[in-house]
Amino acid sequence: MERQAKQYVENFMAQVIARNPNEPEFHQAVREVAESLAPYIVADPALQQLKILERIAEPERVIIFRVPWLNDRGEIEINRGFRVQMNSALGPYKGGIRFHASVNLSIMKFLAFEQTFKNSLTTLPMGGGKGGSDFNPKGRSDNEVMKFCQSFITELYRHIGQDTDVPAGDIGVGGREIGYMFGQYKRLRDEFTGTFTGKGLGWGGSLLRPEATGYGLCYFTEQMLATRGESFEGKTVCVSGSGNVAQHAAEKAMRLGAKVVTLSDSSGYIYDPEGFNEEKIQYVKLLKNVYRGRIKEYTEKYPTAQYFAGERPWGVKCDIALPCATQNELNGQEAQMLVDNGCFCVAEGANMPSTPEAIEVFLTNKLLYAPGKASNAGGVATSGLEMSQNSMRIKWTAEEVDEKLHSIMQNIHEVCTKYGTEEDGYVNYVKGANIGGFMKVAEAMMAQGCV
Ligand code: NDP
Repeated sequence: MERQAKQYVENFMAQVIARNPNEPEFHQAVREVAESLAPYIVADPALQQLKILERIAEPERVIIFRVPWLNDRGEIEINRGFRVQMNSALGPYKGGIRFHASVNLSIMKFLAFEQTFKNSLTTLPMGGGKGGSDFNPKGRSDNEVMKFCQSFITELYRHIGQDTDVPAGDIGVGGREIGYMFGQYKRLRDEFTGTFTGKGLGWGGSLLRPEATGYGLCYFTEQMLATRGESFEGKTVCVSGSGNVAQHAAEKAMRLGAKVVTLSDSSGYIYDPEGFNEEKIQYVKLLKNVYRGRIKEYTEKYPTAQYFAGERPWGVKCDIALPCATQNELNGQEAQMLVDNGCFCVAEGANMPSTPEAIEVFLTNKLLYAPGKASNAGGVATSGLEMSQNSMRIKWTAEEVDEKLHSIMQNIHEVCTKYGTEEDGYVNYVKGANIGGFMKVAEAMMAQGCV
């Protein structure tokens, strides 16, 4: 059976690579899932005959479009917009929009593919999608960001809707950008509906949506730690990134009793040996979200911290690592460094931050290791809660949302242990998340026929 499963993966991946050349991130994400699922698929003739995984790996629809706009100097700039509508077996397409210079079709497809399994794990009725543009918002005025968002939506609006496809934020897209996109969407459609999530609190947004990915990550990590009788209390934690996910992961880990010592951006990382406190975290939020500064500036305000230009934080000694920046930001060598320094738990806030070599190191050394599609699902889960509140035209309190988020993360953890526990008792969360996420999508696709 093992040989058959390996052969299935190789044949399947050969097709995926031939059909989607030059898309390394997409191949990486698909291979990881295929390796987890292969033993199930080779044992189940229906899954093979109905080509469920083959269909899941083919987006239902990909929209690529021109985004022309006028910058503050009156010059025309041209970007490329994407929306990958990956899978609608469980509900309307749902997934964030990313604005970053690196955005291309491969990155959009890997994110949309991952999103399909993640959304399934939340148990909420959401299909998988992802979108974005190679527009780089750094250093742009508010006016330029607004002009860009308006042009982006002037094309995208015809492909999305509250029952069709519901975008949210991701890298480079926060409350400001969602506001501009929602405004243009509302103007073109002449309707006020919950087509975007991550909206402002006064106009349809859910309490706790900005915090949800980072908080949910910590709730999931708490569950993992509890399987070994551990908790955040007294642990040293390294976080990468300093955006939405990193800020709230650091905040919650600190409130749960951990000493969080690092944050980073694409230019380098800061190490604060004293750990962050409430005041320092509030300053990071101000620095990044309002001043739109760089993490280096933290050391000007708190000189006991050190800045390491051009480096990532994985050489810092810690018990728990929470990668919250971007894909492939933690390689095999860095994973080994973490293990050698005594780190025993890695939970991903970002999507696919660990390379396959890093994952191999974590699994071989039997670390508590959670892939993003399980541990960062709190963001999209709370987006799902925002959609429900919009449809019902009600607003839940922060406590109500937090309770629901907590129980969703607990359920995801249960699903991971159900499908991922190995003979020696080790929980392989990669396997657990991939199989758990796949089952529901596969059952729905089988019931819905060849579509
Ligand atoms: P933000 O834009 O708020 O922050 C991104 C952070 O990551 C910044 O600190 C940024 O630094 C850093 N970063 C981005 N690209 C790189 C890079 N190539 N190398 C090193 N650092 C980089 O995004 P989010 O916090 O929303 O997203 C972070 C991750 O979490 C992404 O992988 C996203 O897909 C994932 N995620 C986000 C969710 C959400 O609700 N927002 C939900 C689930 C997952 P710099 O400023 O230098 O670019």
